[in-house]
Amino acid sequence: MPTIKFAVLPGDYIGPEVMAEALRVLEHVARQEGLVLEARPADVGGAGIDNHGKALPDSTLRLCERSDAILFGSVGGPKWEKLPPKEQPERAALLPLRKHFTLFANIRPGLLYKELKAASPIKDERIADGIDIVCIRELTGGLYFGKPKETTTLADGDLQAVDTMVYRKSEIERITRTAVETARSRKRRLCSIDKANILETSVLWRRTVSEYVARHAPDVELSHMYVDNAAMQLVRSPNQFDVFVTENMFGDILSDEMAVICGSLGMLSSASIGTGKNSLGLPFGLYEPAGGTAPDIAGKGVANPCAQVLSTALMLRYSFGLEKAAARIEAAVRKAVTGGARTADIAFGGAAVGTRGMADAIIAAL
Ligand code: NAD
Repeated sequence: MPTIKFAVLPGDYIGPEVMAEALRVLEHVARQEGLVLEARPADVGGAGIDNHGKALPDSTLRLCERSDAILFGSVGGPKWEKLPPKEQPERAALLPLRKHFTLFANIRPGLLYKELKAASPIKDERIADGIDIVCIRELTGGLYFGKPKETTTLADGDLQAVDTMVYRKSEIERITRTAVETARSRKRRLCSIDKANILETSVLWRRTVSEYVARHAPDVELSHMYVDNAAMQLVRSPNQFDVFVTENMFGDILSDEMAVICGSLGMLSSASIGTGKNSLGLPFGLYEPAGGTAPDIAGKGVANPCAQVLSTALMLRYSFGLEKAAARIEAAVRKAVTGGARTADIAFGGAAVGTRGMADAIIAAL
């Protein structure tokens, strides 16, 4: 079995705390499954600024380039808030990584075990069995990157700002392919979300998704929904979706809405898949928790490591092709949490374990 190498970028505040526990879980699975994994740590974010003078040190980027995937913690926090916006950890580390590796597909499972329903602001009867959906957001196109993007002074002295929403057919096709693959690993139901009644890019989006699915994935049941309706439907009845796919800005907003209805950020993982292939011939990707560095609880040993642990499961699945090991980790997290091991964010005032205790429970479940 060849050695699988991955970059470990823990980042700041709770980043290193939850990363250490995720690696412990991963080492345990690797031993059980006979996998040879090499974790290669490097600084990023505030740690990059403090130790190397920039949020994404060159040595870190080179390490990522020589690896099969990136396991990312989260970056930023009050310590670096006074820096100019361009040098802030998130903007100066995460965005360049997305760009450098063309991480075009952001896959975000929206998972809420029914035992944790109380963490969701949605009424009980609407999520009787919890929530289990997946958001796929296009990450490198659309309004956030389109040019022109500028503010100009008009002849009459007024100020005018322009952002440009632009999509190529090929960009829509590649995100549709990712969405189809994800739908096929689940219930084969895909909802494409757009604003095709108003936006030209959405008209192309809808046509391209429809053509792609008709030609390459007739086994997948495809539906379309306008984004304003989707925002409503997500809180009204989240499980009517199984997998949904959408463009960058719509996905930015809908994925945050999804995170809220799923309760704690401490449980939500994410994968950002790139265009490049790794040494295994599989997609290179960056895997990270959905939440941030949680400075309010950092250093106390109470952060929930589940999101980071579940992110490692996504890395095993998408970048290493190790479905069995990925599914075992996911099942172990579910078993540990539903069996009663809860960090404070999901304990609802009841007895809570710490970061390490949560990882111990996951390892025990494995
Ligand atoms: P946050 O996600 O860090 O925290 C929001 C709330 O969720 C806090 O109450 C926090 O304690 C809680 N929370 C988050 N993760 C948790 C976990 N694993 N276990 C238990 N509770 C958890 O958002 P914020 O406070 O707005 O941001 C803090 C810093 O993180 C900022 O500097 C922000 O820029 C950065 N950030 C980084 C990323 C990233 O690196 N991808 C993403 C979002 C925010």
